[in-house]
Amino acid sequence: MTSLVIPAPPTISIPVSTGGAFPVRRVYCIGRNYAAHAIEMGHDPDREAPFFFQKNPDNLDASGEFPYPPHSTDVHHEIELIVALKAGGTNIAVANALDNVWGYGVCLDMTRRDLQGEAKKAGRPWEIGKAFERSGPVGPLRPVSEVGHPTGGRVELKVNGVVKQEGDLNQMIWKVPEMISYLSEYFELQPGDVIMSGTPSGVGAVVRGDTMEAMIEGLGSLTVKVV
Ligand code: MN
Repeated sequence: MTSLVIPAPPTISIPVSTGGAFPVRRVYCIGRNYAAHAIEMGHDPDREAPFFFQKNPDNLDASGEFPYPPHSTDVHHEIELIVALKAGGTNIAVANALDNVWGYGVCLDMTRRDLQGEAKKAGRPWEIGKAFERSGPVGPLRPVSEVGHPTGGRVELKVNGVVKQEGDLNQMIWKVPEMISYLSEYFELQPGDVIMSGTPSGVGAVVRGDTMEAMIEGLGSLTVKVV
């Protein structure tokens, strides 16, 4: 076996509610998946083909702290359902897609909105706005055996006790099986891949010292301090 010339980077994983941890391979994120959020961002809410971007696996962070990142003065919260895959493949049919899901959880797609906006305007990629250090605070994953496959349920994000984002999982434009099927036409999905499934309306800026409380009905909550 070839010896590694530098120490191997650590395996990235997300804690699991029932014990242990879920190892992460890739992080896919869907954009504009709730009509009300598409409208607040200045886009047409009509159902057009979904689009995806990626974060890095090591952007996920279960520490409960979010360090305010550099080079931005407009960092936004986006509460999202995260879907964790135990299996994958290509060209997965919508009808079979949920067979690939290991579990679900609550996460935040933290966004340097000012840098994302500049990238959009210039036709550049979004990584600088989306895929920065610790930009994916995440709560414990819950297995399907415990929570089933949620298709509805309140989605709520509070900042310092005040509700900022609210919606319902049933408002997602592209449902979980459709996202899995669509992604699998373009990528080979594999065990360990996770999908961040978009955010309802009410996104907004946070500052150091804020406390974000993210909750999805049936999946529990996640509290993150901005430091
Ligand atoms: Mn998002």
